[in-house]
Amino acid sequence: MEKVLWNDQLVGRDDVHISIEDRGYQFGDGIYEVVKVYNGDVFTATEHIDRLYASADKIGMAIPYTKDVLHHLIHQLIEVNELGTGIVYLQVTRGYSPRNHAFPTPAVEAVITGYTRESARPMQELQTGVPVCLVEDVRWLRCDIKSLNLLGNVMAKQYAVERGGFEAVQHRGEVITEGSSSNAYGIKNGTLYTHPVNNLILNGITRQVILDCCEEIGLPVVEEAFTKQQAFDMDEFFISSTGIEVMPVTRIDETPIGDGTPGKWTRKLQQAFEAKLPQQLHV
Ligand code: PMP
Repeated sequence: MEKVLWNDQLVGRDDVHISIEDRGYQFGDGIYEVVKVYNGDVFTATEHIDRLYASADKIGMAIPYTKDVLHHLIHQLIEVNELGTGIVYLQVTRGYSPRNHAFPTPAVEAVITGYTRESARPMQELQTGVPVCLVEDVRWLRCDIKSLNLLGNVMAKQYAVERGGFEAVQHRGEVITEGSSSNAYGIKNGTLYTHPVNNLILNGITRQVILDCCEEIGLPVVEEAFTKQQAFDMDEFFISSTGIEVMPVTRIDETPIGDGTPGKWTRKLQQAFEAKLPQQLHV
C-alpha cells in the first residue's frame, strides 16, 4: 500500500491528520521541495535538502530533523512505494496553533508531509520545444525562498495556459526574471544569459546543474538580467526545472525564437544534462 511521510513516520494517506489551523493551510507559512527520481534513484537530493533548510532558515523556522534523517526518509518513501521515475514532494509548515499572524510563542513543532508520484519525463516537449507567454511578475520580493505561497505563480501559469502557453515567463517591468515554476535563459551569439541569483528568482537546482553543463560544453555564461525585447531577439531560449529539465522554447507570445525550433546550444545542453542523470532510460 502507498505510504506518505508524516513528520518522521511513513503512514497510509488516510492516517495523516492535519489541523485546520496548520499555518501552512492558513497562511502558506511553510516551505517545500520537489525532488526528481529517475528509475528509483534520486537526483541532486543533497542540493534540494540543503535548499529546504536554507528556506527554513530564511523564514525563521526550525526543521526538527537532521538532513541525514530527511535523506533517509526520502529513500524509504521511494523504496516502499517502489517509485520508478517521478517526484518526491516534501513540505514543512510552521505547525499549528490558534490563528495569529505572529509566530507562535513558544514555538510549536513544524509539520512535515511528503509523498511520491510517478511521472514520466516530458519527452515529446523536450524534443519539439514549447511556446511560452510573457506575464508581469507580481510576486513578492523574496522569490529566493521556496515558500508555499504560490498564488502569484499560480495566476501567472493560468494566464499562460489560457493562451496556449506551456509556461509563463515573468518580467518585472522590462526585465525577465523567471518562469512560474522554472528558470529562464536566452542564448545570443554563442553566450548564455540568465537572471542573476538574488531575491527576485529561485536559485534552481537544475539551473546550477545547467551552469556546470555550460562550462563542460564551452558555452560562456553571463548572469545578468535581460529585457523582454532582448528575449524576443535571442537566437535560442529555454526554461528549466526539476520536472522539465532543459526545455527548449520555440515561441514567446507570438514571436518565434530563432527559426522556431530548438537551437543547437540548447540541444547540446540537453545532452550534457542527460549524461548527468542517474540512468538514461527514457521512461
Ligand atoms: N523558479 C521557480 C519559481 C520554481 O518554482 C522552480 C521550480 N522549483 C524553479 C525556478 C526551478 O527550480 P528547480 O530547478 O530547483 O526545480
